[in-house]
Amino acid sequence: MKKNSNTLEILIEKALENLPLSVEELRYLLTIHDEDQIELLKRGARQIRSHFFGNEVFLYGFIYFSTYCQNYCSFCNFSARSATARYRKAREEILNISAELEASGVHLLDLTMGEDPYYLTNSGKALLELVSAVLDITRLPLMVSPGVVEAELLQKFADLGVSWYACYQETYSPVLFQKLRSGQNFYKRLYAKRMAKKMHLLVEDGLLLHVGESVGNIFSSILAMHSLDVQQVRVMTYVPPKVNGIPGQKKHHLDEETLIAILRFVFPDRLIPASLDVQGIGGMSSRLMAGANVISSIVPPKSGLKGVSQTTLDIENGKRTVGIVSQALKEMGLQVAEQDTYWAWVEEAKIGNSHGAVRRKAGLSQ
Ligand code: SF4
Repeated sequence: MKKNSNTLEILIEKALENLPLSVEELRYLLTIHDEDQIELLKRGARQIRSHFFGNEVFLYGFIYFSTYCQNYCSFCNFSARSATARYRKAREEILNISAELEASGVHLLDLTMGEDPYYLTNSGKALLELVSAVLDITRLPLMVSPGVVEAELLQKFADLGVSWYACYQETYSPVLFQKLRSGQNFYKRLYAKRMAKKMHLLVEDGLLLHVGESVGNIFSSILAMHSLDVQQVRVMTYVPPKVNGIPGQKKHHLDEETLIAILRFVFPDRLIPASLDVQGIGGMSSRLMAGANVISSIVPPKSGLKGVSQTTLDIENGKRTVGIVSQALKEMGLQVAEQDTYWAWVEEAKIGNSHGAVRRKAGLSQ
């Protein structure tokens, strides 16, 4: 690709028209390391976000309802290897927290768990009952993040009216995947997402940053997520668990905010979270300034709920609440979207599920 001073402007124009970048253009974005250029990249990402979403931001309520897990992920606080204290919230409590989050003004409820056998045995019967009970008491779209599950269970989620299936590959390097998700099947995880899309569930995928990946790994991971045509894509910096985790390894110049900006160029009209789970409320604005448009991991205080990465940061002091986030958004000239706007986006994205893959095939995925 021939580069000149207008290259970024040209890529902004392409993104504004929702045209896929070429692989050379993605490679170019991943090489940017000059501070002035990174600022231009982020400014471009904000312009693209503003074109597709105005100044509106979506808020996700996070309910990590079981921290039991049968897996041995080397980056996770709740790996089966870890002797950390765990909880499995009672159904009534989960329903109360869901209602509290809805009343506080979030746009979506994210029901997350470790791969807890209590919920997954008997073809996921207990999980289905819980999901059904939450759907009965909420008018909000529901995201489920239960780990890898069978296609039949995904179909039942879709039949119940679940909107999203979140399942993070963390990397599309099969070698690095084994280091991170030790003993798990790379292709089974990918297959679950493909199945979810077939069943018209929206899919969120994501990358973990500074776990020993190279720029080349990031490049192929972005290509893979683009090819999968996910509706929400997140990048999160690795925060080593207090015990047993692999050490953080930064092998390149890219940080979370720069990657959020690059993702905005690659996925112009998709959702990109600014997670409160890495740096708490203090890290929100830099991620929004990079083009994110969802605030994820809003957790009510006094609920006893944990975060995934930073398990307690800003939860009990009430800084991961809609009130605090809304105020911070206002100070940045952004605002919380209307509930109807989010529902409309979800419905439109579901229709696009069947067309999007075809539309996007012409670009990065080749
Ligand atoms: S990342 Fe998820 S699947 Fe892996 S150990 Fe943690 S809770 Fe379990």
